[in-house]
Amino acid sequence: MKRNAVILGAGFGGLELSTVLSEAFGDEIAVTLIDKGDAFVFGFAKLDVMFGRTTPDAVRLPYRDIAKPGVRVLRETVTAIDPEARLVTTDAGVHEADALVIALGADYDVDATPGLAEGGNEFYSVAGAERLAEIIPTFSRGHAVIGVADAPFKCPPAPSECALLLHDELVARGVRDACRISFVLPLGTPVPPSPETSEALLAAFAERDIAFICGRRVSSIDPARKVAVLDDGNELAFDLFLGVPKHRAPDVVIASGMTEDGYVPVDSATLQTRYPGVYAVGDVATAGVPKAGVFAEGAARVVARSLIADWRDGERPAPFDGRGSCYIEFGQGNVGRVDIDFLSGPTKTGVFNAPSAALAGEKEQFGSSRSARWFGT
Ligand SMILES: Cc1cc2nc3c(=O)[nH]c(=O)nc-3n(C[C@H](O)[C@H](O)[C@H](O)COP(=O)(O)OP(=O)(O)OC[C@H]3O[C@@H](n4cnc5c(N)ncnc54)[C@H](O)[C@@H]3O)c2cc1C
Repeated sequence: MKRNAVILGAGFGGLELSTVLSEAFGDEIAVTLIDKGDAFVFGFAKLDVMFGRTTPDAVRLPYRDIAKPGVRVLRETVTAIDPEARLVTTDAGVHEADALVIALGADYDVDATPGLAEGGNEFYSVAGAERLAEIIPTFSRGHAVIGVADAPFKCPPAPSECALLLHDELVARGVRDACRISFVLPLGTPVPPSPETSEALLAAFAERDIAFICGRRVSSIDPARKVAVLDDGNELAFDLFLGVPKHRAPDVVIASGMTEDGYVPVDSATLQTRYPGVYAVGDVATAGVPKAGVFAEGAARVVARSLIADWRDGERPAPFDGRGSCYIEFGQGNVGRVDIDFLSGPTKTGVFNAPSAALAGEKEQFGSSRSARWFGT
């Protein structure tokens, strides 16, 4: 019997893991990659969609394009996970795994922020970004508020990028002077592990007259009064609200009993859960790294190398180093980069690389190299 790995979720983590396993084993093992969707979309593409720089169709990478030895991709919805037995139930059947990897990402709990669904516009899903592509061009005067409901949330720089790109959009339409922009963030600075990055973003906000309200959550929206209520009771009246909803692990993961404080605890070095043969990577796990694709990808590589070692009696992989580079849109075609290292040294570090057109090109390359590697496109 061939060994088999069942990977739940074909996002950054699941795609990288199945790719490395296929490269290492080809048809010698059976990899089953399960996702409820029919296509992958990069997180950063949502900003491009909401600001009309592209369309949802153009940024979809269909799973049917994946053709890798040893890998089959199934479009199924996971409905139950039994981590002790390594058994997964989906809407189409049951899968038994020698190695089970949970890579189901983080879901949005829009209802946790009363009024957000009716009175605000979340921009963290493709559907939300698509709706905003219609709404943003109609906003020409008044107060725009970008607000985050709670931390942790995916890609900590993304709401800052949203504020800067909104500024550009309003300038391009000649209406910036008729609009105010405020940005509410639960964190003390825009990118806490990198003071230099935070300083550069704060300077960019100041230059563009974007009001930054830090250390505050948006706790509710009053759609009738068009007011965002913050967790200190203060209210911000708005004409346009762009929101990041509260995140949590998908319900099916919470129901499996694997989570603590909303996410799956793992050994940061190995990504192993407390269940033998069961790993969790990416946004669904608490691995001591930010919720971003690059870290899901890095964690997936460690799990892949560990399975290669197990199944080939090879050398154990080095521990997960929690390193990764995140690109940050500063507007006007310039992109910055922060090189994060959360686990390899005694302290968390984040080295800033100033925004430039060259880094915008590097970000493009980051996306296209993944599309080529995972989808052959
Ligand atoms: C606006 C925005 C900008 C971003 N920018 C960046 C960036 O520049 N760089 C970066 O590194 N990261 C960025 N991110 C974050 C990045 O998108 C995520 O952190 C990353 O996708 C996490 O990878 P993952 O594999 O853990 O989960 P995901 O990529 O979210 O994949 C999880 C998969 O599980 C599937 N799934 C969930 N539940 C079920 C179920 N019950 N049954 C079957 N399938 C299921 C989903 O369909 C999904 O495909 C950004 C995110 C946003 C929202």
